[in-house]
Amino acid sequence: MAKSEKMAYFFGPGKADGKAEMKNLLGGKGANLAEMANLGVPVPPGFTITTDVCTYFMNYKNKYPQGLDKQVAAALQKVEKVMKAKFGDPNNPLLVSVRSGSRSSMPGMMETVLNVGLTTQTREGLIKLTGNPRFVYDAHRRLIQMYSDVVMEKSEGIEPKEGQGVRQQLERELHKMKTARGVKNDVQLSAEDLRELVEIYKAKIKEVLGKDFPDNAQEQLWGAIRAVFLSWNGKRAVAYRNIEGIPHEWGTAVNVQSMVFGNMGDDSGTGVAFTRNPATGENVFYGEWLPNAQGEDVVAGIRTPYPINEAGKGTESSHLPSLEKTMPKIYKELDGIQKRLEKHYYDMLDIEFTIQQDRLWMLQCRVGKRNGPAAVRMAVDMVKTKLIDKETAILRVSPSQLDELLHPILDPAAEKTAKVVASGLPAGPGGATGQVVFSANDAVAWAKAGKSVILVREETNPEDVEGMRAAKGILTARGGMTSHAALVARGWGKCCIVGAGKLAIENGNRLFRVEGNGVLVREGDWISLNGSKGIIYLDKLPTVDATEENLAFTAFMKICDSVRTLGVRTNADTPEDAAKARKFGAEGIGLFRTEHMFYGVGSEEPLFRLRKMILSTGEQERRVALDELFPYVKADIKATLEAMEGLPVTIRLLDPPLHEFVPHSKDRQMELAQTLGIDMDQLKSRIDALHESHPMMGLRGCRLGITYPEITEMQARAIYEASAELKKAGKKVLPEIMIPVVVAASELTNQIAIIKRVYSEVCRKMNVKQIPHLLGTMIEIPRAALTAGRIAETVEFFSFGTNDLTQMGFGFSRDDIGGFLPQYLEKHILPADPFQTIDQEGIGELIKIGIERGRSTKPKLKVGICGEHGGDPASIEFCHRVGMNYVSCSPFRVPIARHAAAQAVAKETLAAKGKTSKAKPKPTAKVKAKGKAKKKAKR
Ligand code: PEP
Ligand code: MG
Repeated sequence: MAKSEKMAYFFGPGKADGKAEMKNLLGGKGANLAEMANLGVPVPPGFTITTDVCTYFMNYKNKYPQGLDKQVAAALQKVEKVMKAKFGDPNNPLLVSVRSGSRSSMPGMMETVLNVGLTTQTREGLIKLTGNPRFVYDAHRRLIQMYSDVVMEKSEGIEPKEGQGVRQQLERELHKMKTARGVKNDVQLSAEDLRELVEIYKAKIKEVLGKDFPDNAQEQLWGAIRAVFLSWNGKRAVAYRNIEGIPHEWGTAVNVQSMVFGNMGDDSGTGVAFTRNPATGENVFYGEWLPNAQGEDVVAGIRTPYPINEAGKGTESSHLPSLEKTMPKIYKELDGIQKRLEKHYYDMLDIEFTIQQDRLWMLQCRVGKRNGPAAVRMAVDMVKTKLIDKETAILRVSPSQLDELLHPILDPAAEKTAKVVASGLPAGPGGATGQVVFSANDAVAWAKAGKSVILVREETNPEDVEGMRAAKGILTARGGMTSHAALVARGWGKCCIVGAGKLAIENGNRLFRVEGNGVLVREGDWISLNGSKGIIYLDKLPTVDATEENLAFTAFMKICDSVRTLGVRTNADTPEDAAKARKFGAEGIGLFRTEHMFYGVGSEEPLFRLRKMILSTGEQERRVALDELFPYVKADIKATLEAMEGLPVTIRLLDPPLHEFVPHSKDRQMELAQTLGIDMDQLKSRIDALHESHPMMGLRGCRLGITYPEITEMQARAIYEASAELKKAGKKVLPEIMIPVVVAASELTNQIAIIKRVYSEVCRKMNVKQIPHLLGTMIEIPRAALTAGRIAETVEFFSFGTNDLTQMGFGFSRDDIGGFLPQYLEKHILPADPFQTIDQEGIGELIKIGIERGRSTKPKLKVGICGEHGGDPASIEFCHRVGMNYVSCSPFRVPIARHAAAQAVAKETLAAKGKTSKAKPKPTAKVKAKGKAKKKAKR
């Protein structure tokens, strides 16, 4: 660092060397103090030592850069001039606070020292000035307590035994003094008591740390600065940065600021406030204060704070004095400042203030934290009042905040004190609480009896579906984010945790144990799941409903829709899901998995016929079974097409390996053998013949239709007849037939020939000229992406099946990742679960190639995505960037996808305007028109 480089930035009334944009150099607190000072807001003067000094300090074995001492002295002089007092002056002393302040807020993770500059000499001057010896001795003992702990012990790396820290030892002295005087509270100690306590403290420090407490202002100042810098690498701070992903090389700034005191009598006080209510988003000034107190008294909960204004009073606080009533002049000034600050920062702010003898001082302002409902409401309100533009509003709400509005959640307050049992992958967001059951049948029976249940399984299979539907939440020991349980749960908006590897389930004994902590949970015990975080708790925790009709939510989604260009569809397999998704704003179905009619309610009969078909030998037998199956398939498709009222419905032909549907129970097997007119041995040998070593790479997808063309034929007939009947009844329909698991264009040629033949037959039979439809394929195997140019010759649309594309691209079985993926993530071998968020580096390249090659053959080729990634915000942004037309996701993810698609555009628009996330001017007419044109062209 060059000597000439600026290392200390002054701020004082009306002017400052820094500004809000200099967060990287001055830290959040320093930059905002400078900004407030520039705005003329009353800020106690001070200066900020830059984060660059901190990085130098760390890199050069705790040495300061040359010239820092001179710059600090000069900045301090400026402060002295403003305050008309001098640091270390026995007659007219200035006291300062020394605080940390990193770029990104790390609440409570680093150190602070207050009242720096108070010595046996300066305190006499202060007593004369204030005429309040008790206050001064109290300030002195607070300094000694804080300084000896932070500077003399912690920053020296001393790690005392439990309960033997210098701070605790001093606190015991304070306690002793109170007992000796027969008083309960600190405030009852007299000036003389406190003066005596200061001497006791000093002696104790010498005894414990073997050093004298520094009775020199300069020595205190530099000790405090050094301790704050060192606290950047304190244990707490390092751990916090690891969790939050804050880079360790950033370093902290140090803010040295004149002290102001809220505890100088009844004309003093302190408080914390928000420019809007951070829990509801309501546009009312909201906060708490305490008369005759210091900041820590409010935040640490030592005393119950009072509401700042009358509007903020609840039933429990109605008797407490508000600042608005107690100090109306000060309140008016504060209210004016908060309004100005919010306008200036165009965001909800969290502010701290102190009143010293009837004078208001602002100590801090920063963007306030808020929950989901509040974030959405504020964003909408601020667009309405033109405080921010649409793009900024869209970027203000995070996907997880929006998600909070879509699911009931566990009460966050209860979670804080609940016992964590284990954790797994957060597969279905929201919260659920219920009694543990270990089988799907029990889940159904218990739910019928009016109980709330959590279904706990090793893993789930299609036969569990009813139980999953009946359960409030689902917990599995195995499986990943795209495991069956996860997929189904998300589709229903159900809370679900999968892959909780520490769970050892003993189905026979109806219990599970948790490896490592000895927890044992039996059938009927209550547990609670946080499906958004993947945390499992013991006991019944309360849930709070976040799903109720919310006007702000509707308005927010409207804003999102007005800017996005990507279409949003849903993956839905039933008319009910389709209707739900449409309520959430889906513009079509991007994936209708035909096979889902064989799971769950009403599946008995079609499933029985499907099983018959699977276990048939020869075309003849198969055709009989298919004919029986036909009316079910047709009715199912018809109901969904009808529910979608002319919106596109992508119907995928049968995909899964057939043996998935083979019955395991003896009764069912006997029933089947009877219908087929064969004995059990014959049936068993037919079942055995279906066995495959790697079913996911076996007889599935279009391979089924190529091997047994009559299966494709039946499905095509069902789709076209259902559509023709609806059309004849005057309804609009748009089926899109999608062929799965394709690897070569020739497979499609084969299948499309069958489909086209059936189409002509149906048109003739039903006496219709044409039935609107599209033919397309899934791109879900790397070879298909690479040969997309040829494939596009045969179809009108592509839908990327990124579940399989990830599985085949990585060579990771999607059902078995629970065994190794956690390790991959923990060891940073992969940055994220590729089944959850698109691996842009590898799988993303395949997608790009697929789109480029496909569109080079057919420029208007419609492209979408229907893998689980279609509901993941980062993946959606990627889909937007690579020029897809739409994404498709489970119904409950639809609003998230609409928002993410809008965020992708908002980022581009703001980048084009040259700002990151800013306020005001509304998008120009030109930008708007362009956005609309693009949208039209793409859908
Ligand atoms: C996919 O592979 O991404 C897909 C949507 O199909 P499925 O999950 O049914 O295999
Ligand atoms: Mg697939």
